[in-house]
Amino acid sequence: MTFSLLLENPSLQELCRHSVIFFIVTVAGYVAAASSLYWLLYLRRGSRFSAGSTSGLKPGFTTLTQIWAAIRSDVILSVMSSGIFSVCAALMMMAYKLGYTRLYQQPDQHGLWYLGFSLVLVIVLQDTYFYFTHRLSHHPRCYKWLHQGHHQSKNPTPWTAFAFDPAEAMLQAIYLMGAVLLIPMHVSVLVAVVMVMTTGALIHHFGVRLFEDSAVGAWLGSWLVGCTHHWLHHRKYTVHYSLYFTFWDRVMGTQYDGYEAVLSPTVSAASVGAIAPEAAIAGLKNRGATCSKR
Ligand SMILES: [Zn+2]
Ligand SMILES: [Zn+2]
Repeated sequence: MTFSLLLENPSLQELCRHSVIFFIVTVAGYVAAASSLYWLLYLRRGSRFSAGSTSGLKPGFTTLTQIWAAIRSDVILSVMSSGIFSVCAALMMMAYKLGYTRLYQQPDQHGLWYLGFSLVLVIVLQDTYFYFTHRLSHHPRCYKWLHQGHHQSKNPTPWTAFAFDPAEAMLQAIYLMGAVLLIPMHVSVLVAVVMVMTTGALIHHFGVRLFEDSAVGAWLGSWLVGCTHHWLHHRKYTVHYSLYFTFWDRVMGTQYDGYEAVLSPTVSAASVGAIAPEAAIAGLKNRGATCSKR
């Protein structure tokens, strides 16, 4: 089959059309969410996290050049990741239409209780999948081509939320594609999972200490991955690999030694923000693969 005949294939045309639509929606959503959150947290006059404030976890950027330099690589990687996610979403849609997935439309097909159960199941399994693939991606043999892009910034911002190397974006998409092929899932549950993933990715990269200055926030931070928990992962490479719950970091011994103190409401954000970043991932120092110090 020649290339032109291939392009005339209706299934391929539909796949391309859906991929483009998903891509436009994903990039538009990313830019809208990241820019508004960035403005709200860092640029808005009076924000307690704005430049010069001591409430943020990091020293604020001071010039437009610094801001652009910090954001540019995150945006480039995020747009590439959006392309990969969009093609995968279009493939899932095609598989659904062909009857290959376990997605269903009638809410009571497996009982209403199953809607909540399947949502929790998919999220707990994803939390486990992410922890171990994340640890794998930090292995010196994998890090440079799989995960280094995401760690370009030691001071993540909402722009970092979807900044993945193409291989890492693929690794993440594989989970959801596998889940819809194997686990019976109502369409609304799939939408809910995508919303949880998206919201979580944005919150984890706020780069600020949002609620931990209250007792309730500190308690939540000890069980759920939040801004400070993931900020520490961008600061230190060998701790905090979890996605939603701190469970696997506790069990596997990868929780930051000083995390209890970091969560204490009596500890100021400025002293947490003073935790020094590591210069490079362990094992790569002698391989010439260093990370940006920004
Ligand atoms: Zn990482
Ligand atoms: Zn991150």
